[in-house]
Formats: sequence, C-alpha cells, structure tokens
Amino acid sequence: LRAYGEQHPIGERLELNEALVDNAWVSSSASNAFEYDLFVIGAGSGGLATAQRAASYGARVAIAEDDRVGGTCVIRGCIPKKLMVYAAAMGGFLDDAGGYGWSVGERTHSWRELVAKRDAAVANLERIHEGHLANAGVDLLRGRARLVAANEVCLGERRYRCRYVLVASGSTPILPDIDGIEHTITSDGFFELDERPERVAIVGGGYIAVEFASILAGLGSRVSLIIRRELPLRGFDIDLRRELLACLVEQGIDVHASTTVSCIEADGGGVRLFLQNPECAEELGAEQALVYAVGRRPNSADIGLEDVRVELGAGGQIAVDAHGVTSVPSVLAVGDVTGKSPLTPVAIQAGRAMADRIFGGKPVTMSYDDIPTAVFTEPPIGTVGLSEDEARECLGDDGIRVYKARFTPLVHALTDRKLPTLVKMIVDADSDRVLGCHMIGHDAPEIIQGLAVAIKAGATKADFDATVGIHPSSAEEFVTFS
Ligand SMILES: Cc1cc2nc3c(=O)[nH]c(=O)nc-3n(C[C@H](O)[C@H](O)[C@H](O)COP(=O)(O)OP(=O)(O)OC[C@H]3O[C@@H](n4cnc5c(N)ncnc54)[C@H](O)[C@@H]3O)c2cc1C
Repeated sequence: LRAYGEQHPIGERLELNEALVDNAWVSSSASNAFEYDLFVIGAGSGGLATAQRAASYGARVAIAEDDRVGGTCVIRGCIPKKLMVYAAAMGGFLDDAGGYGWSVGERTHSWRELVAKRDAAVANLERIHEGHLANAGVDLLRGRARLVAANEVCLGERRYRCRYVLVASGSTPILPDIDGIEHTITSDGFFELDERPERVAIVGGGYIAVEFASILAGLGSRVSLIIRRELPLRGFDIDLRRELLACLVEQGIDVHASTTVSCIEADGGGVRLFLQNPECAEELGAEQALVYAVGRRPNSADIGLEDVRVELGAGGQIAVDAHGVTSVPSVLAVGDVTGKSPLTPVAIQAGRAMADRIFGGKPVTMSYDDIPTAVFTEPPIGTVGLSEDEARECLGDDGIRVYKARFTPLVHALTDRKLPTLVKMIVDADSDRVLGCHMIGHDAPEIIQGLAVAIKAGATKADFDATVGIHPSSAEEFVTFS
C-alpha cells in the first residue's frame, strides 16, 4: 500500500481506499508489527474525536499534544470566545431590563473577574477531555510529534511504528508583512489580555474580527474595525453582510471599510495606525491594543510531511480525498490542517466518519454540503445553504425565489434598544426545494441549527409552509413567508 501511495496521486487512490474499508480492520496479529493502530498528532477537536471513536472499535490509539489538550476551540477559540460573547450580551440585557420595570443599579464590569472565571472553565474542560481520553484507553503523549516515515512518528527520542498516522495539527493565525506588525496581537493574544483595552483597533472582516469587535464594544471599549472590503463577512449572504455592518455601526463601532493598514508605529503605551482607503490616507491614533484577525494558515510545516512526501496544496493545506486520506495511504488528515471548512463540528464529524470507516468498517463519508455556521456578534448570525448570490449564479435570476422579512422582535417592544432581525430564505423555483436560510437577530444560531436539519433532508418551501409556527417567536417567520 505504501509503495502504491507514493506513486499515485490522490484521485487515483480512491478505488484503493474503498478496498481498504472492506478489510480495513484486519486481525490483531496482522497489526502486531505496529505499536499503535492509530497515532494522532494534535489533541484538538478533530484529533480527540477521531482518537476516541477509533478506540471504541478496539484500535490501539495514541494522541500527541505539544500544548494543552482541547486545541484551538477549547483553549483559544470557540469556547472562551462564546463565554465573552455572553458577557457582552448581558450588558445589553441590563440595558433592556429597564424597559421591563427593573431598576438596575450602578453598572460596572470586571474584565479580570470574567477572564479568571473563563480560564477556570476552560481548564475544567481541558481536564474533562483528558479524562475522556483515559476512559477511552487512548494514550496521551506530551510533546511535539513528527512523521519520520509513512508508518513512523517520533516524539523526542522515542519512535513509534503505527498502522495509520492522523495529522490533526490545526492552524495558526497569520500576520501580514508590514512595518510595525510586531506591535500587534492575534486572536491568541486577545485571550491573554489581562486588562480590557479602552481603545482598540481590530483589523479583519472575517467572523473572528467582527466577533471580537462586538465583544469589546459590548464591554465598553472604543473599537475601530478596519476591513479591506466594503462589507464584512465575505461569502455570507449579502443582506446579512449589510445588516451586520449597520448593527456594528449602531453598536458604536467605528468601521473603516475598504481600508488597509499601510504601517504601524508604537506610540507611548499604544500604537498609531496609518490607513489607506480609495479616497485618502488617514491616521488612527493611540490605540491601546491592535488585534489582527486576517486569516489562518494550516499547521503543516515542520512535522515531516514533505519528507514522507505527503502532498500539500498551495496554501500549505494537506491534500486529502473524500475520506481524509492523503497522498500517502497510511497518513490521514482531518480538521483545519486540510483547509476544508475550518470549524469545530466539521473537524469532529470528519474525524468520526474516518474512524467509523477504517476501524468500524462502516461505509461512511463526511458530507461537506449545507454546513450551518454562526457569527456570534450582537445580534448574532446563523446561516445554512446557498446565499442569494450563489443561488443566482447556479440557477439564474429566474431560477430562484427569495423571501425575506426585516422586523424589530417583540422583546424590543418595551426597550430603548431596538436590535433588528432579518430572516431570509432562498428557494429553487423549479423544485421548490429550500436552498438556504439566513438570519441575523436574537437566537439566530439556535434557530438555524434546527432549520439545517430540514435543508439537509431536502425540505421544500411547501414543507415549511405546512409546518405550524411557534407564536410569538422570530422563528415562525420562516414558516409564514408568502
Ligand atoms: C478565535 C477563534 C474562534 C473560533 N470560533 C469558532 C466557533 O465559534 N465555532 C466553530 O465551529 N469553530 C470556531 N473556530 C475554529 C475552530 O476552533 C477550529 O476549526 C477547530 O479547533 C479545528 O480543530 P482541529 O482539530 O483541526 O485543530 P485544533 O483544534 O487547532 O487542534 C490542533 C492541535 O494540534 C496540536 N499540534 C500541532 N502540531 C503538533 C505536533 N507536531 N505535535 C503535537 N501536537 C501538535 C496543537 O497544539 C493543537 O492543540 C474558532 C477559531 C478561532 C481561532
């Protein structure tokens, strides 16, 4: 198999991998040449899920981690971020409470207390994940792992022979090569701030940048957001992008659209930014912190992939087939390092499908269609399926029907704050199938998660219409469009 993998590119190996599944879980005597059936590099979302699922089929599994168990999501991503999103949102609820007759006394917020509690919750989750590994019988090895052959990994002085190696090494924030970039922090540094910066600039228009902007503004910072394009969230539905921009501005965020940073200078305890937009050059002065959230690159360097001849894409992502198999059949990859939909549930589901297939003998393939996703701004976004522009491109202007409604939700009937809600549905005019559901407004991620099941199951607009609404709710708008 190894010889075959070295000679054949990924596409040609699909047939071979089908064959692998039929007799994938060979008898333990055949595995004895290997110390482990699966050696996982990286105890993040994808690595943990694959390791535990493989072990549940009786595979002998090790997982190597050179940082904290949990990976980006648990330690410096989804979880600590969402806790901070809750913290910011609570400020909004306090604003709203007065409208409902509550008298809320003097309002202060302790960043230090929030950060201490957040970090304790994260440490607790880390321990829970370590416990799950131990319960599953997975060996946790501390240190930096490196591939030295198609079936061999080294960790310090020790070498391990393994039937399969799974690379689940994740990704790292990138920084542009401009003067003064050393004065900035990335999302990793954001989670290490022990004081809330009073004045902060955030560079980037993706979901991490807008979420950080919303968190900091919600907690009282003066935030400038610098985005290269006219609107944030490239790739999302155009109405969500427009509505979000308006909401960020309404939240008091100073948005510099169509703007790039040409250089950065240290200025006392803060930084001065030199900005360029189509009209003029401008300066943004004395920011206490500058956060760059302009993208991430796969962690594929310095782990021996080139030596073993694992094929990489132009962006450094590991090239994999539909089952996560690389150009070397014993080397597998999952999660952010593959560059495919870098989201925690995607890494988990792809890893479990891989383990089910190889060690459980089940013909499972991860589906990358209709992946729902959220942006935890104030208000949040939930989205699944095709955007209006994508649907028009596929089916033409006459090929789709678009339904949308914009309103102020009932919760704001009695409050001074009036966060808007926008719900939108894209339908295939021919088949009546719902192609996309998009929402910005309270609870959008929770609502869209449910609708994602309907879209995945191929629901039509008629199915939505036949569904009785829950009243009064914002979600009922999705089943009452006419
Ligand atoms: C700020 C932020 C917010 C995010 N919010 C969300 C969100 O709300 N929802 C969502 O779905 N996704 C979110 N994500 C994305 C999500 O965190 C990632 O998609 C997910 O963690 C990817 O999992 P992974 O297993 O591929 O990699 P990771 O979770 O990054 O795990 C990789 C692990 O490999 C280890 N490692 C790397 N190289 C080696 C080596 N050679 N030896 C040993 N160990 C190694 C690393 O230390 C790391 O622990 C967010 C990301 C960021 C940065």
